[in-house]
Amino acid sequence: LKGKQPERVLFYNHQLEENLRSKVLLQEALNNALARHELRLVFQPIVDAETFAIRSFEALLRWKRGTQIIEPSVFIPIAERSGQIVNIGYWVLEEACKTLAHVPNDDTSIAVNVSIVQFQDQQFVAKISRLLETYHINPGRLHIEVTESLFHSGQSDLTEKIIWLQRKGIKISIDDFGTGYSSLSVIQNLNIDFVKIDRSFIQKIEDKGLAIVEAVMNMSHSLNFRIIAEGVESEEQARLLQRCGIHYMQGFLFSQPVEMVDVFRLAGKTIPL
Ligand code: C2E
Ligand code: CA
Ligand code: CA
Ligand code: CA
Repeated sequence: LKGKQPERVLFYNHQLEENLRSKVLLQEALNNALARHELRLVFQPIVDAETFAIRSFEALLRWKRGTQIIEPSVFIPIAERSGQIVNIGYWVLEEACKTLAHVPNDDTSIAVNVSIVQFQDQQFVAKISRLLETYHINPGRLHIEVTESLFHSGQSDLTEKIIWLQRKGIKISIDDFGTGYSSLSVIQNLNIDFVKIDRSFIQKIEDKGLAIVEAVMNMSHSLNFRIIAEGVESEEQARLLQRCGIHYMQGFLFSQPVEMVDVFRLAGKTIPL
């Protein structure tokens, strides 16, 4: 048995090396992805929990290289580590603004995911501001989704940047709420606009998830934010969430992410179940 051990170790080293190699290759390919139009955005509806009317869309990146589809959960972390997310992120923000400019329904907003690394760019707030002016977008229609980990990144001017965005009228959402470190103080101090309860809690809403959702609901009344339930997949989940008084829902029950043309068609419409 002992004799077999080194072989195993070799196997694992080989795997590690392969993984590293493929990461380096992906990072290189990502350099050309924008220029080659390999990246596009899809948009997932966020509905009013009472009426199922579409109020907003979350913009989600897609990367297709030839016939190969690379998942955001694979390439986003690579782009964050390499810093490529800064340029990709500006492209995403510009696409979102272009889309908003063409949405006939003025009440419809678009939520964009923004990484910590993007906030580190000194031009960040100025560039967003310029984009909104260029495309004549009411800033209230742009929502920026940040994860809780953002507030533990040790960036000193982060709060100032967020407050600046909010003064402009841009709305801030806390994404994947409940999965990171507790940021209750962040929500309290920053006047967050939306909290998105992570899919993992919605999945177990028929069990332990309900208490969490109810607790966040209670907080929302005193701290004055709106709640979005992520990853709603069943009518039973939707019914329980409605009973809690949740404000918005998002998930495959209502719609998969859709193409940009469908945003123009669906904005403001009600999704029939
Ligand atoms: P996220 O921000 O939590 O986005 C929601 C993810 O859940 C999306 O995966 C969406 O397709 C998926 N989803 C939505 N409804 C359901 C459902 O009912 N059931 C299940 N099982 N999944 C559902 P996606 O598109 O693969 O994105 C993964 C992550 O990649 C996102 O998680 C976000 O963190 C990141 N990401 C995507 N686009 C961008 C972007 O433009 N910039 C940045 N920085 N990150 C992005
Ligand atoms: Ca998100
Ligand atoms: Ca999320
Ligand atoms: Ca997530």
